[in-house]
Amino acid sequence: EAKELASEKGFFLYLAGGPVRDALLKRASRDLDLVLEGNWEVLLPELLAKTKGELLFKSQFLTYKLRLPQGFTIDLVTARRETYTGVASLPIVEPADHKADILRRDFTINALIYGLTLPFEEEVVDLVSGLKDLSEGKICPLHRDSFIEDPTRAFRGVRYKVRLSFNYAGDFYLALERAKEVEAFEKLSPPRLAQELKLFFSKEPLENLFKLIEDSDALNLFELSLLKKRALKSSDIDILGLAIKELKPKDREKFFLLFLIELEEKSLARLGFFPPEREKILKVYKIFTKEYLENLDILERVEAFEKLPSYVLLRLALEENLRHTIMEFWNTLRHIKPHLSGHDLKALGVEEGKKVGLILREIRRRKLKGEIKTLKEEKELVKA
Ligand code: ATP
Repeated sequence: EAKELASEKGFFLYLAGGPVRDALLKRASRDLDLVLEGNWEVLLPELLAKTKGELLFKSQFLTYKLRLPQGFTIDLVTARRETYTGVASLPIVEPADHKADILRRDFTINALIYGLTLPFEEEVVDLVSGLKDLSEGKICPLHRDSFIEDPTRAFRGVRYKVRLSFNYAGDFYLALERAKEVEAFEKLSPPRLAQELKLFFSKEPLENLFKLIEDSDALNLFELSLLKKRALKSSDIDILGLAIKELKPKDREKFFLLFLIELEEKSLARLGFFPPEREKILKVYKIFTKEYLENLDILERVEAFEKLPSYVLLRLALEENLRHTIMEFWNTLRHIKPHLSGHDLKALGVEEGKKVGLILREIRRRKLKGEIKTLKEEKELVKA
């Protein structure tokens, strides 16, 4: 429908970026961006009516998200020009023709477009030797100031290189050097850096993670040696797997960021953790030594762990000497709770609220120690 409507109005509609690259590589692609050299607002009313689609939202830079009744969503993007005015700052964006839209892109292999309408219907348009780089397996920026404009592109490049098992072109290294000369990476704001690093986890297969980290490290993309001091172990992957399976999305993202760094003020700040959160994490990290935890009674230990945000707890479990205790808590101890509730205790004749709390804690302590198991034993303890 979009194709017909665009043709009727004389707009040029095309596919760009990931879908074109992946189709040429015969790889499955995740999302389908439809790009229009023209005005989507002119096409939208009819497009929505014809497809029975629902407009989910209009986002920045004239992009629309459409949900189709078939159950998937599609991005409708406007061809645009991006003009960069400072190092690592956000660009000025304005609607433009497909040429400008190609030239704003990160790598040559992502700058191929496939026409859906005239003037390039069913043609691949290659203005930047993208086809050559695709066949040679090269990650090449469009120009040498590319990473000065947007240093996140270097991280994107690492992801494509590892994902596709490609190599960096000579110009990739040149662009990197130029960006480092003007301290572009230092100028990248914490939220943008954090956002980019989260994509290591959310967009790439987990088995590529070490490679992504090693590559970024080898290219010296992490100023402050964010990663360097932490040697990665295969047991880290187990905990990462737990985090993926068991944490809520927001906590999972925070865990991912903490996974990447040494727990220290500078690194936490660099990844955008706010001061109160930084303080809390560092305090916990300082206090929770192996000795401190061993000196706690089992119930106190469980309660101390329960007070921590789950992403902090799992991050601490990456420390070799804490791992066993935390995993024991995570896998078993936290699930051990009294069968009896406060309500039950009142029915059994314990009136005072404070006493109810004390007894419930004592039941839990004994259950944690393995001294009692059954409901009957709990009731006997209450009577005693
Ligand atoms: P993926 O398979 O990771 O989704 P993709 O190529 O579809 O790959 P997106 O992040 O969805 O990646 O971006 C879509 C397209 O937008 C890219 O192919 C690229 O052409 C362009 N793009 C995205 N981010 C940047 C950037 N920071 N600088 C320049 N171009 C970008």
